Amino acid sequence: MLKPGLMMDRPLLISGLLEHGAAQHATQEVVSRETHGPTVRLSIAQIARRARQLANALRGLGLQPGDAVASIAWNNHRHLEAYYAVSGSGMVMHTCNPRLHPEQLVYILNHAEDRVVLFDSTFAPLVQAIAAKCPRVLAWVCLSEREHLPDTPSPAAATPLAYEDLIAGQPDTFDWPEFDEKTGAVLCYTSGTTGHPKGVLYSHRSIVLNATTACLPDVLGLSTRESVLPVVPMFHINAWCIPYAAMVAGARIVLPGPRLDGASLYELMEAEKVTISAGVPTIWMGLLQHVEQGGLRFSTMHRTCVGGSAMPRALIEKFNEAYGVEVRHGWGMTETTAIATLSNLSAADWERPADERHAIVARQGKVVSGIEIKVVDEQGATLPRDGVSQGELMVRGQWIVERYHKADRTALVDGWFPTGDIATIAPDGVMTIRDRTKDVIKSGGEWISSIDLENAAAGHPAVAQAAVIGIKHPKWDERPLLLLVRKPGAALEKPEILAFLAERVAKWWVPEDVVFLDALPVGGTGKVQKNELRKRYGGVFSGG
Ligand code: ADP
Repeated sequence: MLKPGLMMDRPLLISGLLEHGAAQHATQEVVSRETHGPTVRLSIAQIARRARQLANALRGLGLQPGDAVASIAWNNHRHLEAYYAVSGSGMVMHTCNPRLHPEQLVYILNHAEDRVVLFDSTFAPLVQAIAAKCPRVLAWVCLSEREHLPDTPSPAAATPLAYEDLIAGQPDTFDWPEFDEKTGAVLCYTSGTTGHPKGVLYSHRSIVLNATTACLPDVLGLSTRESVLPVVPMFHINAWCIPYAAMVAGARIVLPGPRLDGASLYELMEAEKVTISAGVPTIWMGLLQHVEQGGLRFSTMHRTCVGGSAMPRALIEKFNEAYGVEVRHGWGMTETTAIATLSNLSAADWERPADERHAIVARQGKVVSGIEIKVVDEQGATLPRDGVSQGELMVRGQWIVERYHKADRTALVDGWFPTGDIATIAPDGVMTIRDRTKDVIKSGGEWISSIDLENAAAGHPAVAQAAVIGIKHPKWDERPLLLLVRKPGAALEKPEILAFLAERVAKWWVPEDVVFLDALPVGGTGKVQKNELRKRYGGVFSGG
């Protein structure tokens, strides 16, 4: 007969992370670049005091456990305080992506039943535009002092309070309630490229487990010795849980505010001696361009964690070879809380030639403890882990969604979450994303991986960015179309890039045509919007 374990039943709660940070790492710094410019420094102890003040203030506004509080905000210390104050007091922290279409924002604010909205002054015009359509919201709070309140005329519905006024005079102690660790803590909606955005409601348990795992040496590797700069936004998948993980590890956290261009990031990284950063590939392209053009070096940064879309191998190589920065390449999605798989180099891998190392990092890697993956064919049968058989990637684990917010049925198939990504898994467990089901190009009954083609094109020295979409073709059903952005001042024409690709991919993969653009359309989370490109360029191939 099974025997019950005889250990204490203490719930995994987000408030516990904050109080751990405040007690054990009280003097560790949180550095935050303000929306209006200056960089401020607070200790974790101060952050905790201010979070408790906010918890008292929200209670004072009449909010109850279970209520939802939205944020439309950059990565900054007030947003961090809200992360802890809202979830810690049993409410749901709903982080909104400000780059959603305003109608979608209205939809999610109403769907989540948000009572208070915390916003950065940058988004005042957006708040103005949507406030009247969100009747349940009782307070709009600008994350600033009174003197930095936006001076835009507000509709009566949205006359904003200043955050500093709201918390001023509130006690800096708060009795964090204890409740079931499975309680909803944070709500994040998917980007909703098709249909309405869908809400993923993370539990306290899932976030604490994920945050703890994220600190492991082979995941983000956070510790008291590291200064971590999450470029990945706090409005998208909790900045990969770094705001929680930093508290677990006692790492110094550097929050970049609104300026995420290469020059601003580089300046902050150097000034604040950042050692680890995390973000999507497009951010790193901007950063590298700035560093290359200025002949600069990274004096302290030794590791960057990249995910959200495939990191081109050429970029991995540059970070490594030219700048001595280790790249860790992760895969995850809103539905998986944060990173679910990560490429990493073992001691033996470090002995391999550089080329082989970069090839390992270019794959999406192994699952972190707590997660399982498999690939299945169209009938749902599990495919072999042979590195070749490709099918839909299925995932399960302790921080994977079971059903969407307010959905009446599960999102799972036989207990696994279908990701919509197409992948292979090698015998050693290393997973490679080949494509998204909606991006893969079906040519003459075979599949062409848009990611592999993009990676190959990005390896050309004149290419700044590359995207590949399928265009309809009368004979082959679909054929690849390559869309390219040249590096500033670089000369590159169609015959040259096609010849370059012909040496690197199968002949029938070579794109049907090439279009040169000034920029690729990038969505709210820094990813290239292929649906936009398909709308503009995905028509029937007309020859040429
Ligand atoms: P969306 O991109 O729709 O806004 P998410 O931010 O949740 O939604 O993105 C999840 C998707 O991003 C994954 O399903 C996958 O297609 C893609 N993705 C994430 N990380 C990687 C990676 N390292 N390589 C390739 N694709 C990735």
